[in-house]
Amino acid sequence: MTTQQQQAPALTSEPDQSASPGAAKDSARDTSHSASRHCIVVGAGVIGLCTAIALQRQGVQVTLVDRLGIGEGCSKGNAGHFATEQVFPLAQASLLPQLPRMLLDPLGALRISPGYMFRAIPWFMRFLANMRPAVFKRNTASLRALNEGALAAWERLVSQSNCRELLIRHGSLLTFESPSLSTARAIQAMYQSQEVEVELLERDALDALQPGLHGNITHALHFTQVGHTSSPYQLSQALYRHACELGVTFMQAEVIRIDAHNEKVQLVTDLGLLTADSLVVCTGAFSKSLCQGLGYQVPLDTERGYHYMVSSEHMPLMPITSYEKKFILTPMSDGLRLAGTVEFAGLAQAPNYVRADRLRQLGESIWPELRDDKHDADKRWMGFRPTLPDSLPVIGKAPGHDRVFFNFGHQHLGLTLAAFSAELLADELLGNTPAVSLRPYSIARFN
Ligand SMILES: Cc1cc2nc3c(=O)[nH]c(=O)nc-3n(C[C@H](O)[C@H](O)[C@H](O)COP(=O)(O)OP(=O)(O)OC[C@H]3O[C@@H](n4cnc5c(N)ncnc54)[C@H](O)[C@@H]3O)c2cc1C
Repeated sequence: MTTQQQQAPALTSEPDQSASPGAAKDSARDTSHSASRHCIVVGAGVIGLCTAIALQRQGVQVTLVDRLGIGEGCSKGNAGHFATEQVFPLAQASLLPQLPRMLLDPLGALRISPGYMFRAIPWFMRFLANMRPAVFKRNTASLRALNEGALAAWERLVSQSNCRELLIRHGSLLTFESPSLSTARAIQAMYQSQEVEVELLERDALDALQPGLHGNITHALHFTQVGHTSSPYQLSQALYRHACELGVTFMQAEVIRIDAHNEKVQLVTDLGLLTADSLVVCTGAFSKSLCQGLGYQVPLDTERGYHYMVSSEHMPLMPITSYEKKFILTPMSDGLRLAGTVEFAGLAQAPNYVRADRLRQLGESIWPELRDDKHDADKRWMGFRPTLPDSLPVIGKAPGHDRVFFNFGHQHLGLTLAAFSAELLADELLGNTPAVSLRPYSIARFN
């Protein structure tokens, strides 16, 4: 039995409030709301971990449930970029002219697996509908509202969790390989229209800020109000340690079905029945079937992404993305992480690690010094980004169930938005007014 399993509460029993010293200490609010006594958070990725902490800090006794361990899903191998500049939904009309070329290249930045094409059609129809100018504008405002609160929420959380060193504020770069500055200027203007802080650096200024870049790079956009972590996995582990200190308990179990029609929420798991006053579904790309079981149809799909780990004698200071080649390179504690690509192939198909190898080939076009001297199996990784056609997550109460809450679907921004989404969700569950209205993120938008 693992340490994590040893902390599991007895099945179907009420939580032992005395086992929650942190909860008592940090509870500044009235927790008489009946959903707030004992809550099960399903999913121990970065979203579930942050949600568990936010609730427990406000006096809720939380049991975290995951069929794997802590932070073993998509949250494990992401690019570690707190990408608060990404205020634009993925469904943007400017993507359309690029799509044919992208789709024709089997190793290109976007791929729909031939075996998945038919199943992906409904999602893509909705995706296209979200490109309409008025919808795009509305979605941008909703995504921006989350991004604007994201870094401050992380600052609070890493301070409370004693892991400040895992949030690094060195900015990030978007590099260009072109003698003309016009594209970069247009992109800069687009970001500035949303009040994102960004400066255009030509090669000399770029070298002064970030030496070591490939000679083909002519200029870059420098985003100053973003950050990165040196290890998404260590960040999850640090959050889990803090959660345990507060009194959160963990159970390794698979949730098979949810019954929320009675006074209590009941979860059928592979280990038996679990009961709680409330439930938060934080199961990332795997949330669709649990929602369906509760009667909610969600057009959730997964954008599978890959990483490849290399090393380098000198590390870049910050995450660097190639505008032309559409991948990111992030300095991490265990090497340089080359990450990116979008693959629509569902949850069941085996990873296509040739896509990760392709990232390795592209890596030198940003950072010529990289070395492929890591021989363990962890070098290549694939993760399931949870993604909705409007690029907005689902955050908030289930419209037809008082005791069921959702926090999933954060697409390319799950790490970025985790701490703030968790704060908003906790306020909603406790009957307080969240700092941002949760209406645009309600699951009801799909009905
Ligand atoms: C290549 C790549 C790069 C990325 N880079 C970035 C980045 O730089 N910045 C950023 O902000 N985001 C990035 N992302 C996106 C980010 O990683 C995800 O949005 C985020 O990890 C989602 O977190 P989550 O907690 O919702 O999901 P997960 O981490 O997948 O956690 C969900 C958990 O639910 C559990 N679970 C599922 N079903 C059940 C069940 N029935 N019962 C019990 N447990 C269950 C799973 O085991 C899993 O642990 C990237 C993603 C990829 C693939």
